[in-house]
Amino acid sequence: FVAEQSASAHGPGRTRDGFAVRLSANIGTLEDAARAGAADCEGVGLFRTEFSYLGRHDAPSVEEQAQTYASVLGHFAGQKVVVRTLDSGSDKPLPFLDLGVEENPALGVRGLRVGTVYPDTLISQLDALAAAGNATGADLWVMAPMVATADEAKDFAELARSRGIGKVGAMIEIPAAALRAKDILEHLDFVSIGTNDLSQYTCAVDRMAGGLAQLLDPWQPAVLDLIAMVGQAGADAGKPVGVCGESASDPLLAPVLVGLGVTSLSMSVPALGAVRAQLASLDLAVCKDMAAAARGARNPLEGRAAVARIRESA
Ligand code: PEP
Ligand code: MG
Repeated sequence: FVAEQSASAHGPGRTRDGFAVRLSANIGTLEDAARAGAADCEGVGLFRTEFSYLGRHDAPSVEEQAQTYASVLGHFAGQKVVVRTLDSGSDKPLPFLDLGVEENPALGVRGLRVGTVYPDTLISQLDALAAAGNATGADLWVMAPMVATADEAKDFAELARSRGIGKVGAMIEIPAAALRAKDILEHLDFVSIGTNDLSQYTCAVDRMAGGLAQLLDPWQPAVLDLIAMVGQAGADAGKPVGVCGESASDPLLAPVLVGLGVTSLSMSVPALGAVRAQLASLDLAVCKDMAAAARGARNPLEGRAAVARIRESA
């Protein structure tokens, strides 16, 4: 029992019966990187690069970006770091990427789509990332935000690889991408599910609208169905499927996600301990039971209650 407890408190993420679930950090700033580098976690699952340039009116040069990214990656020698290309637009506008006035920015030019308006910005970021990856000992993986179609995934993968990026992926945060995860994965090395936006787009509810929290809930069975599709596609392709939205840090939802086929969870550093301990106390088969119960529920409230009951009797 003592050995089990200490295994749950430290080290790589795993279920009680030893199924590996990579537990990594979400970061946005250099301070976050330093904190995550010193923390007990398996590298970075989401580096939100746009956070470095909020408020900037001039585009950062390749050299400036390379320096910033190298400072971040320098904290993770020998560790995997998943970097997301600029997710500009909507809730995270970057002044130097002027998109004009949009009626519905969340449905407009954002994420990877900005690259079609400003292709040089995407290329310069990929060049800076490749340079930073080469200059440090970190294991660099790069993904695009807001990918909707397999064609977009293919175009991004070809561009990223042509600029020297070794491991290329996409965020799955649009229902169309979840439904077509199999096609998308054909072009990529990995995917990471952004449950914040996936919840927003699945129930068509603005993620900034506090009054609609119940609809924005990642425990919505429809959201879990979509995650299950991505998990299945990842298992079939033998490629990693992560979750890097807020839902990964919910200790009751984390085993559900694992039961749905998710192989890595990325969250803010303070959330890691509770999730690690929860997974270490449950067998993979129980995580699968929890996933089935959550998907079998008619709403988030029922889903939570059903999963909590399984937790109590495990
Ligand atoms: C998400 O959408 O779940 C996500 C991780 O990205 P962001 O919150 O930065 O949009
Ligand atoms: Mg998102």
